[in-house]
Amino acid sequence: MASLTSTTPERAADLHANLAAIRARVQKHTPPAAPRPPTLVAVSKYKPASDVQACYEADQRDFGENYVQELVDKAALLPADIRWHFIGTLQSNKAKLLASIPNLYAVQTITSVKAATALDKALGPTRTAPLNVFLQVNTSGEDAKSGLPPLTPADAPGAADSALAQLALHVVRACPKLHLQGLMTIGALAASLEAVDKGNEDFERLVSTREVLEGTLRAQGVEGWGEDGRLLISMGMSSDFEAALKAGSDIVRVGTGVFGERHLKGEVPAS
Ligand SMILES: *Cc1c(COP(=O)(O)O)cnc(C)c1O
Repeated sequence: MASLTSTTPERAADLHANLAAIRARVQKHTPPAAPRPPTLVAVSKYKPASDVQACYEADQRDFGENYVQELVDKAALLPADIRWHFIGTLQSNKAKLLASIPNLYAVQTITSVKAATALDKALGPTRTAPLNVFLQVNTSGEDAKSGLPPLTPADAPGAADSALAQLALHVVRACPKLHLQGLMTIGALAASLEAVDKGNEDFERLVSTREVLEGTLRAQGVEGWGEDGRLLISMGMSSDFEAALKAGSDIVRVGTGVFGERHLKGEVPAS
C-alpha cells in the first residue's frame, strides 16, 4: 500500500491560508438567522493525500471526492475521523467498494432507487451509524448534469408521485442503513456568475424543492429523515458558494478555492 508523504511547508502554508480565506467568506455570507452553521466540504479530487493531511492539520474534517477508487485510496492513508463525502456519479457496480470505506460519511449524489438499494445492501454489519444520503436534483435542467427534476409549489398536490418523492420514500422506508439527510444540486454556472446579489434561480429551485418534499414526507407520515425536522441542502461551489449561502445552503463544496486549479484531468467532470 502507498504511504502518506507530507507536503512541503510552503504548500501547507498556502493551503492553510486558502482555507482561512474560504472559512472567512463562508462566515461572512451565512445569514444571521441560519439554523445551523454551514458545513464546508473541501473537495480534494485529483489532489494528493498530503494536501488533505495539511488541511486536516488546520482542523478541516469534511472532504469531498468524485471517484470511488481515488476515495478508497485516500481514505486508507488518512485519519479515521475524516468525514468523507462522495460527490461523484455513483454507478451501482461501485456501491460495494464505496460502502467498504469505514468513515464514509455521506453520499450526496443518489439519483435512483437502484443505486440506493445497492448502497443499502452493500453496507456491512460493522457500520455503526447509518450512511447519510442526499438526493441529487438537476435544478438547471442541463443534459450534462445528473439528478432528478425539481419540485415547485404547483407540484405539491401530486408531489408524492414524483420521481424525487418516490426515491425519498424508498430510502426512508426500504433502506434501513441509509439516512435521508437532504438534497444536493450543482446548478448552472451561467446563472451563478451574476448571482451574489440577484439570487440564483437554481438555488431558489432547490430551496422550493426542499419545502415541497418536506411537506410530502410529513403528509406521508414517514419519520427519521433530515436533521431536526429539516432536509439539509448541499449547494454552492468555488464560484458560487456565497450566493448559495445567501439562499440558505447548509453545505458548500469548495475545491478550487481551497486547493487551487485542478490540472491532472482537466475540467470538473459532469456529475
Ligand atoms: C468538483 C466539484 C465541486 C468543487 O468544484 P470547485 O469549482 O473546484 O469548487 C463541487 N461539487 C461537485 C459535485 C464537484 O464535482
